[in-house]
Amino acid sequence: MKSYSFKGGVHPPERKDATKALPIERAMPSTRAVWIPITQGGAPNRPIVQVGDAVARGQRIAEADAFMSVPVHASVAGVVKKIETHLVAGNVDAPCVVIEADGSDRTEFMPPLDPFICTREESLARVRAAGIVGMGGAAFPAHVKLAPPKGTKIDYLIANGAECEPYLTIDERTMRESAAKVVDGVAIAMHLTGAQNGIVALEDNKADLVPVIEAAIAAQRCNPVGPGACAISVALCKTKYPQGGEKMLIKALTKREVPAGGLPSGAGCVVQNVGTLKAISEAFREGKPLIDRAFTVSGGACESPRNLEAPIGTLVGDLIPEIVQLAPGVKKIISGGPMMGIAMRDASFPIQKNTSGVLFLTERETALVDESPCIRCGRCISVCSCLLSPVLIVQALKAGNLDEAKRCGLLDCVECGTCAYVCPARVKLVQRFRVGKQLVREERDRAAARAAQKGAN
Ligand code: SF4
Ligand code: SF4
Repeated sequence: MKSYSFKGGVHPPERKDATKALPIERAMPSTRAVWIPITQGGAPNRPIVQVGDAVARGQRIAEADAFMSVPVHASVAGVVKKIETHLVAGNVDAPCVVIEADGSDRTEFMPPLDPFICTREESLARVRAAGIVGMGGAAFPAHVKLAPPKGTKIDYLIANGAECEPYLTIDERTMRESAAKVVDGVAIAMHLTGAQNGIVALEDNKADLVPVIEAAIAAQRCNPVGPGACAISVALCKTKYPQGGEKMLIKALTKREVPAGGLPSGAGCVVQNVGTLKAISEAFREGKPLIDRAFTVSGGACESPRNLEAPIGTLVGDLIPEIVQLAPGVKKIISGGPMMGIAMRDASFPIQKNTSGVLFLTERETALVDESPCIRCGRCISVCSCLLSPVLIVQALKAGNLDEAKRCGLLDCVECGTCAYVCPARVKLVQRFRVGKQLVREERDRAAARAAQKGAN
């Protein structure tokens, strides 16, 4: 099979051998309490339960009225003990609903819904009601991606199984263990968006998954309640980072470019992570909201690397040492992968809808060295798959020139971290880009506030 590719990118050590053959195991620590962040992707939610309330698994506990928001549900049956701020996966403190599990399996799922019979509006409402966000890391509300702007024609629905981050194997295990659900999710998303082509995209280091996915596609074709699978195929992409980035995947598979500052729908594509597609299938077939999360635990300082599935809100610290054992010398704890994940101040954060992995890294793995001055080697330019010049953006940011940074493509940067990975001077490129984008957002907010004030006068 041909392997598709894009220009740029790097080949960091894969480090997936520790977990790629390990099945996903269900994990529930004996502490039996979960800290569920009230907002997990999209606009801020408000809690709709109070301390002392009894809740069932799958019951809505937080929501917002905004279209760009998804509700959050109880992941265990029990009693609401507290609503308080707690460390969450972005390494910030955010409000969480604390539920103490009562050990029962009381559930409050929605009734199943046939995605091929209900209206498009009912389908989108179901995806939103199930609280589904992008599980590959971005936590973007799935129903918003599946409802592209009016007049936009979607040609391709791409299932993102590239999983290019080192260490992480949870997408690979999800495809191996739940291929039928992933393919069903692709068929549902194609039906919703009107895409005529569905592509399950894998990196070629997972080529042995091709027959597994093809068997699921063949079975879906014979499924009387799952039409639409006839146009689904599997495609291999070269194993390199950041192959799993939406823009790179679209470029590699369709040769189309996502417009600068635009969305994949601008190139006629919708990309969804394979875990998200599985969750979409479950939301229709079982009425199940997104309340469980599978993730990889790995890293050189982890003595028991594994793939786990836990109720959302489970504290990583509660998994240690009962389920996850650590070696001495943990230098860095990362929520996500080593390239795009967030370094956490400690392990007391909860598993969230977009937690694809938790890594415990040694000093050697993190290569913790101080930043030194840029030596103008140009390596960052040669690897950027968005064809940007990271060194120029960072120079503009250092000079406090936001306009110049924007002109150099700051807002087109997908924060993949490839430039920082190859930089011999360890210039903190991505951190600076994140801060720069935040400054641009603040600038826009101030301008909007001024315009609103002017309108009111
Ligand atoms: S500039 Fe942005 S998109 Fe380009 S390599 Fe660096 S982080 Fe990735
Ligand atoms: S890779 Fe690092 S040292 Fe080289 S030009 Fe880019 S920022 Fe400068």
